[in-house]
Amino acid sequence: MPDVLVLVEHDEARVHKSTHELLTAARRLGDPVAVLVGAPGTTARLRESLARYGTTRVYAAESTEAGEFVGSPAVDALYLAVRTVDPAAVLVSATTDGKEVAGRLAARLDTGLLTDAVDLDSSGTVTQIVFGGAYTTRSEVTHGIPVITLRPGSFDPEEHPGDAVEHTLAVPPVDPAVSARVTARRAALGGDRPALTEASVVVSGGRGVGGADGFKVVEELADALGGAVGASRAAVDAGYYPHQYQVGQTGKSVSPQLYIALGISGAIQHLAGMQTSKTIVAVNKDPEAPVFGVADYGVVGDLFSVAPQLTREVAARRGGS
Ligand code: FAD
Repeated sequence: MPDVLVLVEHDEARVHKSTHELLTAARRLGDPVAVLVGAPGTTARLRESLARYGTTRVYAAESTEAGEFVGSPAVDALYLAVRTVDPAAVLVSATTDGKEVAGRLAARLDTGLLTDAVDLDSSGTVTQIVFGGAYTTRSEVTHGIPVITLRPGSFDPEEHPGDAVEHTLAVPPVDPAVSARVTARRAALGGDRPALTEASVVVSGGRGVGGADGFKVVEELADALGGAVGASRAAVDAGYYPHQYQVGQTGKSVSPQLYIALGISGAIQHLAGMQTSKTIVAVNKDPEAPVFGVADYGVVGDLFSVAPQLTREVAARRGGS
């Protein structure tokens, strides 16, 4: 079986679910081989989690400067790993960071890049949903080692025992002259809620929420379901919710088990970021809202009446009453 490289996304303490999805997808093409970039000691902490999802080997690029630069340490590590193992493909999560790394890697390798894939078959053909969801395409790389970014939530992670044997990747120091340095970090808003691209439930609010205060209703439903909060661009542009939570073509792509859209019309640019969700529920007071065209369940009504009822019902059922 050929090796398939997977870039590990993690927060030093935990491997992100999107990486378990990549490892599952990689098994369709060959043996998953992880590339982990992090501070010294990270691989030892995360090895077991990688092994559980079928990782055969882990190439560890550990250094104190791993978190100091944007993208470059991961690009350098993947480049060296590609040269070392000659893989059948390189898989990276289609997150903001992942897409930057994948693009730079493909340029450096002079190879083909496929982004935002929602499926991948054993021949390396990927499925993408393009032009704001208007077309579904199937594509394959015809030049060089394919670099593929997979949209988080597209694969259900499946456990499969692997050895995750650790190898050291001796990556040369990052060249600061051609790299962007991280100058400050701020804790993410959102408290204990799961990350938007990792969550199995996302509750999003749109302009129909009417203001920043109105998002309390969205947050309460998300919290009752243990989900993340998202927002439409109109809601973000109006200052109702922070930009990092925008879902859509120019925001984050999500593919949770359940997506609830509250007061969102369903513009094509919003649908582009969420229409691969497994179940979509829409609440909108306009029966003609386009969002109902993609919804599995639709409620025509006022979100300020419907969402609190949903929250109460979910809380009651979770509480067992
Ligand atoms: P609106 O279209 O104004 O819809 C509000 C909805 O709320 C209406 O359907 C209304 O019936 C309903 N409503 C109002 N009050 C209530 C109530 N009390 N109860 C229930 N329903 C109610 N948009 C994104 O979301 N993400 C993107 O990434 C994105 N990228 C874009 C990129 C480009 C290049 C462009 C041109 C546009 C982009 N947009 C994006 C914007 C997009 O076209 C829409 O303008 C936007 O999605 C609309 O947001 P909305 O549905 O919240 O607002």
